[in-house]
Amino acid sequence: MRFVDEAVITVRSGKGGRGCVAFRREKFIPMGGPNGGDGGKGGDVIFRVSPSLLTLYDLRLKRRYEAKNGQMGLGSQCNGKNADDLVVEVPQGTLIYELADEGEALAADLTDIGQEWIAVHGGRGGKGNMHFKSATMRAPRFAQPGEPGEEKRLRMELRLLAEVGIIGLPNAGKSTLISAISAARPKIAAYPFTTLTPTLGVIQGEFGERIVAADIPGLIEGAHTGQGLGTDFLKHVSRTRLLVHVLDAQEALGDDPLAGFALVDEELERYDPGLAQRPQMRVVNKVDTLDPETLASLKQKVLARAPGTLFLSAKRGDGLDDFVSALWRFVDSTRQEEPQDPPLKGEQP
Ligand code: GDP
Ligand code: MG
Repeated sequence: MRFVDEAVITVRSGKGGRGCVAFRREKFIPMGGPNGGDGGKGGDVIFRVSPSLLTLYDLRLKRRYEAKNGQMGLGSQCNGKNADDLVVEVPQGTLIYELADEGEALAADLTDIGQEWIAVHGGRGGKGNMHFKSATMRAPRFAQPGEPGEEKRLRMELRLLAEVGIIGLPNAGKSTLISAISAARPKIAAYPFTTLTPTLGVIQGEFGERIVAADIPGLIEGAHTGQGLGTDFLKHVSRTRLLVHVLDAQEALGDDPLAGFALVDEELERYDPGLAQRPQMRVVNKVDTLDPETLASLKQKVLARAPGTLFLSAKRGDGLDDFVSALWRFVDSTRQEEPQDPPLKGEQP
């Protein structure tokens, strides 16, 4: 399942500094020659791919990026300083479109770590009057202005592939779980893309590899009949490779501890039998709400029928490390089997 993360920003490069008009002044030389220095170059705005960013979240918070202007030239042939470039880090896979009145055009496709793209170039500094001296013009009283900077509006786009869908009854703790597993890096903590799409959590591995998980609300509640948001979400689910199925421990205390899982499985089956076949990792959440004996007997009953079920508390943190390790193993095994994202119905493969 793919999500598009997007941000529209404005970038502006720095102006070049103006050249200087100045003349040499020395005690015994009444008419010194021109010695005005050049202005410095304005800063560029440069995008660079950083492995530590996973979403465009930062770009959605700050929407304007301006590089500094070059300094103006001074007398005694002193050139103004060039301004520093402004480097903006973006995640790997970012596409950058330039926006214009006529539409938009792809300007950069940033695929490699460290790759850079200069979005706007800083203006050149103006030449000082020392350059304009000639036989006919001994004392030029002018210098060049600096070149102006440029401004562009850019649309940044990042496609995220969510391999893991988190399903379960309302209030099972899906959202809590997704924020708990991506909480280690507050910058990439789960955040809602829009109110209509699920919440994404990004789990980063040791070597920059990552798992994107989507919390899929709205399942059940008549989802397969197309009521409410359910169908949209089910479409998203159909593109995940594996499902994490969350059940509230309180829902497992009845005669059949697995009935809550079965309810959601039936809903999936009704919508799309293929979905019910998707590999599932089952987790019983909110174990903090049970006393130790109840938990022990519940574990025994559940594991007898559904071995491999994990028990955790998304809120208190019990069992989260085991859950994340199991998720990595689970994802790695399916990555080997099925390296490509299957096309959506009606989409070109
Ligand atoms: P969702 O509808 O499945 O996304 O469920 P939420 O994540 O929104 O959680 C529903 C409620 O259950 C919230 O009040 C959570 O604070 C609470 N909750 C989630 N996980 C736990 C847990 O592990 N223990 C307890 N006691 N409460 C939890
Ligand atoms: Mg939720």
